[in-house]
Amino acid sequence: MNPAALPDPPFAALGLSPALVRAAAERGYAEPTAIQAATIPLALQGRDVIGCAHTGSGKTAAFGLPLLHQLDRWRPAWRRTYALVLVPTRELAAQVGETIRALSRHLADPVKVAVVFGGVSVNPQMLGLRGGAEVIVATPGRLLDLVERNAVKLDDVALLVLDEADRLLDEGFADELARLTALLPRRRQGLFFSATFPPAVQELAQTLLNDPVRVDAPATPAAGLPAIEQHAVEVDAAQRTQLLRHLIEQGGWQRVLVFVATRYASEHVADKLRRAGLAAAAFHGDLSQGARTRVLGELRSGALRVVLATDMAARGLHIADLPVVVNYDLPRSAVDYTHRIGRTARAGAAGLAVSFVSASTEAHFRLIEKRQGQRVPRERVAGFEPRDTVAPVSPPEGGVKGRRKSKKDKLREAAARGG
Ligand code: AMP
Repeated sequence: MNPAALPDPPFAALGLSPALVRAAAERGYAEPTAIQAATIPLALQGRDVIGCAHTGSGKTAAFGLPLLHQLDRWRPAWRRTYALVLVPTRELAAQVGETIRALSRHLADPVKVAVVFGGVSVNPQMLGLRGGAEVIVATPGRLLDLVERNAVKLDDVALLVLDEADRLLDEGFADELARLTALLPRRRQGLFFSATFPPAVQELAQTLLNDPVRVDAPATPAAGLPAIEQHAVEVDAAQRTQLLRHLIEQGGWQRVLVFVATRYASEHVADKLRRAGLAAAAFHGDLSQGARTRVLGELRSGALRVVLATDMAARGLHIADLPVVVNYDLPRSAVDYTHRIGRTARAGAAGLAVSFVSASTEAHFRLIEKRQGQRVPRERVAGFEPRDTVAPVSPPEGGVKGRRKSKKDKLREAAARGG
């Protein structure tokens, strides 16, 4: 094929070099997403940017492409770490590192990208940093550890990226962030992304950025998430596992991320589904890093069909081509709801989000809808119509009125929730 015969790809119009435009095209990016179209030209001008963007908006390439473009312009003169990308979770670190490497593949020299995160042995990461890294993608705690061991020098960093700033603060990284950013040169560029902007996030942006331009991806929580088809299915709590199995089988769903409230429920429901012949696995904070990586790999490769995850474990998680997310247990807040269902919003491709609502959780779901500024019509599935249609006065799932719940009660409830 003669590339000259093709019209200029839209990414070229943003000012990116041909090598980057080509790599983006090879990843299937035909047109920039809204956050990319807004961020990339500003970043290439050297401006600081605050981006309101959730997972699935294409924010990784929104900072990854200009980062690589500018790094490539300075090479080989820039011999030290040029860009630092801070992220809240190990999984996100791995995904961002992978995306940056893939986008850099057609640059004249390979870009040295180091990915560092806690929860695994520090030695291989120290070895990986030997000889320097041009781009470091890191969770803050482990990076500080490496700085203290003299494995990293940050005094030449020209570009700082904060990805999922709200989650970074939620995870309790405020101190680490302050200590790390104090080590960076004052003259630097900053790109800052967050799905939500509570006061603490605004304050952080103010201290780290210089005269930033604010850009919003249109799919902010307030505007709703148009690429995601949302459903709310009424079902009794005890019927949920059966219904889940039914929907997976009837819908032919091949990759499903199911959110549950507890580690126990994640193991318990996974176990039930496995016994029913579905390739299912639990994903929660008690699993070793190796086990978590394996589960994600298997979901990606198709060896697993269903992953039962807790919110904590699923933070920042991005699995390409994740068509369905199920709220088996409802999230605690509207913000968590947005984050959860955002897992399935893949840059314009339609995703499906299904929430299970029972008589006892109806009021809570209504609150989430109110905060989201939208209403999701209730549906029923034949054979799974709820019997408890009126909110019960006493706790619905085995809880005993009038005394504190014992551990045994709680286990029994969790088991009942597991169907
Ligand atoms: P992110 O929000 O960075 O996690 O990206 C979400 C998903 O969108 C990833 O699977 C990306 O590969 C994909 N993506 C990013 N930019 C584009 C684009 N311009 N066109 C199509 N897909 C994209």
